[in-house]
Amino acid sequence: MGEAAKKQWRIEIDARRCKGCNICASFCPTDTLELKGITMDVKDIDSCIGCQLCDIRCPDFAIQVFPL
Ligand code: SF4
Ligand code: SF4
Repeated sequence: MGEAAKKQWRIEIDARRCKGCNICASFCPTDTLELKGITMDVKDIDSCIGCQLCDIRCPDFAIQVFPL
């Protein structure tokens, strides 16, 4: 049996809402997110496990996680 296909996720960050507070990245258990200047960015989408902690914790509704 081959390895089961890893579930893929898409992360959308609304740069107009994001204030770069870093809360999402600090809750992310897999180090997927990283500040780029004053806006949050996705550092490594392949490491995302879809837990949605970033989405839940963002106080500005600036980050959303979707299954692909
Ligand atoms: S928690 Fe929200 S506002 Fe703060 S850096 Fe992350 S996406 Fe931006
Ligand atoms: S869904 Fe979870 S693993 Fe993916 S970026 Fe958000 S906090 Fe990190």
